[in-house]
Amino acid sequence: MSANSPITLPPEMLPSDGRFGSGPSKIPTFFLDGLAETQDTLLGTSHRRPAVKELVRVIRERMAELFKLPDGYEVVLGNGGATLFWDMAVHSLITSSSEHLVFGEFSSKFAAAARQAPFIDSVKEVKAEYGSCPALEEVEGVDTYALTHNETSTGVLAPLKRPQSSDALVLVDATSAAGAVPVEPSVFDAYYFSPQKAFASEGGLWIALLSPRAISRAVETVALGRYIPTMLDLSVAIDNSRENQTYNTPAIATLYLINAQLEWLLSHGGLSYAAKRSTDSAAILYQWAENASYAQPFVSDPTLRSPVIATIDFDDNVDAKEIAATLRANGIVDTEPYRKLGRNQLRIALFPSINPSDVEALTQCIDFIVGQR
Ligand SMILES: *Cc1c(COP(=O)(O)O)cnc(C)c1O
Repeated sequence: MSANSPITLPPEMLPSDGRFGSGPSKIPTFFLDGLAETQDTLLGTSHRRPAVKELVRVIRERMAELFKLPDGYEVVLGNGGATLFWDMAVHSLITSSSEHLVFGEFSSKFAAAARQAPFIDSVKEVKAEYGSCPALEEVEGVDTYALTHNETSTGVLAPLKRPQSSDALVLVDATSAAGAVPVEPSVFDAYYFSPQKAFASEGGLWIALLSPRAISRAVETVALGRYIPTMLDLSVAIDNSRENQTYNTPAIATLYLINAQLEWLLSHGGLSYAAKRSTDSAAILYQWAENASYAQPFVSDPTLRSPVIATIDFDDNVDAKEIAATLRANGIVDTEPYRKLGRNQLRIALFPSINPSDVEALTQCIDFIVGQR
């Protein structure tokens, strides 16, 4: 394999869709066709008009159905994505002491956000090497635990656990897991995510599934009298969500696509269907990597390997960057690893919208490229 003789993959070997990006992720083409048809009714109309509020209402209702939320849990949403929700949690949910399980870029960013806040007394980070995950350490006085369901930067799916002897809140960053991995609502007080990963939508929004205790905490924090910018005040977002609107103008296309994915998932059996699509793809990919003489899964503990984001390391004599570039030249895109991880690796999304048969095709394409060297 050399840079001046590009490899052309046999057309019959190619996947039917070459999008394997970890986010923004593949959006089914028929969703986009449907979106184009909404121009008279939805896109380009006021976000306070009935059609948009009805869309928000349906999304909230379908999220509750998909996740089988118990009575009292609420679906809340707003602008700014999961990254904004970190700052919102710092201002509106952490009282004075938080613990963060840190095992990748995303989990470390939330901890960093908490450290910056002058009104938080103690920020404890429990760390594990990238490619594994730490266990929760119960600490007296911690009022908020911050977990990450799927570390999108490393491809680790972490077990979720509530502390036994504490009534602290459990906040779970579920971006890239939500909508593809089963979850039991009793383990979280906030399960929040951006929709441009497993939800096959666009970026820009955050969605949070909140327990009654998280809702109460947001109100109690306002009563503490600390300065909370309105965009970061979860109680304001809760009030607006109850009216089926967001505090400021949302991207209506993003809402449309979330709803299209919810409709698709619910009509096929919900979260268990989504999970099966992803675990089928994951079985194909990890099995291939284990059998390949020149590649292996980065996550050594099979029980921590993510069913939605697979990270595959390559032997030193095979250049993963060159494989990703060759795939890209053949229309198979976004298999490059998370930049800051700095490994000789491919990162491949296995979200429910991606066909397991396309994952199979991808493995054949990689074998073909390596075989041409
Ligand atoms: C992508 C991602 C984020 C950040 O999402 P934004 O929409 O860019 O704010 C946070 N956490 C995890 C686990 C992610 O995968």
